[in-house]
Amino acid sequence: MKSFQIILPLLYLFLTAWQHELGAQGKDERAPEPESVVLKWLGTAGWEVQVGKTIILIDPFLSRKERDLSAEWKTDEEAVLKVIRGAGYIFAGHSHADHIGDIPFIAKTFGAKVIGSRTTTNLALTAGVGKSQLVTISGGEKLDFEEFSVQVIESEHGVLTRGGRRRRPKFEEIIKPWSGPIRGNDFVEGGSYLYYFSFGKHRVLHQSTGNFIEENLRGLRPDVALLAPVQGYDLGNALKILKPKVIILHHFDEWRAPFTDGIPAANMRRAERFARDVAAIDSQIKVIISTFLMTHALE
Ligand SMILES: [Zn+2]
Repeated sequence: MKSFQIILPLLYLFLTAWQHELGAQGKDERAPEPESVVLKWLGTAGWEVQVGKTIILIDPFLSRKERDLSAEWKTDEEAVLKVIRGAGYIFAGHSHADHIGDIPFIAKTFGAKVIGSRTTTNLALTAGVGKSQLVTISGGEKLDFEEFSVQVIESEHGVLTRGGRRRRPKFEEIIKPWSGPIRGNDFVEGGSYLYYFSFGKHRVLHQSTGNFIEENLRGLRPDVALLAPVQGYDLGNALKILKPKVIILHHFDEWRAPFTDGIPAANMRRAERFARDVAAIDSQIKVIISTFLMTHALE
């Protein structure tokens, strides 16, 4: 009895001192671990973001083939399932086939929520995705999910060179679902959006196609900006507003060819040229040129 009276207060003192020590070193293991955030490039403007146990996909396109305009669109399910292991959420930046062609299959396979324009919603409904899985955006929304939040920002499609002429693709929308099938020429732009994600303390900006509406960028300060190396806008102005710490380049690969074909030299030169342009504007920004399925952990 006597010894307990001595030992207990001593034990208390010891534990208090130990706790204090842990606190001073900032290593108290009972504090919740911040969720790890890992980005993985899926080719084109496609990304997988793993936040703790949650998998988020943005513009995932693994079929990597040209659509036949008048024939029914078919996802290459085997190619998709080689890379995609699961999905809780799928974000669509715009509705061209190389951004949303595989989304209905992935959403139906994993029961994922799909966030996209009304065109994306109507194509997904036509493809048989459940209504309760669909979230329709039109720019300006702030969406809060359990593991992250995201701001939706209106943008514009990049300028493309087709038949020697540079122009933005014609804006078209799909305003209602139909009883199918979906053909190649049903994948119209349907509006282009940026997603500005908050994963805990990390901010990630995803650009689906190489353009910005400059005035919509004010107030954004991404740690990582996922950009296409195409300039249909004033890059200097955009970088001055955004001041990203890191830019990761995407959507410069040959999207109609499988990963095993690699990235053509001319496409690599385009990405390298863009990286030099960024360095000339602000040498503080780190530019990473993506390689297929590379991962980038946020710290
Ligand atoms: Zn497009």
